[in-house]
Amino acid sequence: MESIGDRACSEQSLLVPDQDDSHRQDPLARGVVLRIVAWFPTHDDPSIEEAHFLIRIRCPLCGDTHRHGWVSGDDWNVTTHRCRHCNQEVAGQGYMISVFGPDTPEYHRHAHPPEVRLTRPRQRRGRR
Ligand SMILES: [Zn+2]
Repeated sequence: MESIGDRACSEQSLLVPDQDDSHRQDPLARGVVLRIVAWFPTHDDPSIEEAHFLIRIRCPLCGDTHRHGWVSGDDWNVTTHRCRHCNQEVAGQGYMISVFGPDTPEYHRHAHPPEVRLTRPRQRRGRR
């Protein structure tokens, strides 16, 4: 388990995008899909869950690699802001992230095609 590192924006979950729209000019980093990391109910149908991927990016601020959550089905045209996960002091609160598209050599390294939305019936936990 690698360290998540210092969080400039504080209290941000690994999986939840930063909702602050003030960082839209921050640099863009594209990532490779590593694996499914969680399932969450979809917004449009609570009986269905969608897969959230873990992606790895090369940080445009510090040059290290960091991991972030990414919703399956969100392709390379989608960009969302994340707080930086840098372990060193750098300028900037964060960056925009997306995934590599099919016109890049990195595309074939995705463990799952990012453009394919993975869903399943909602799994119920606890009492049966
Ligand atoms: Zn960094």
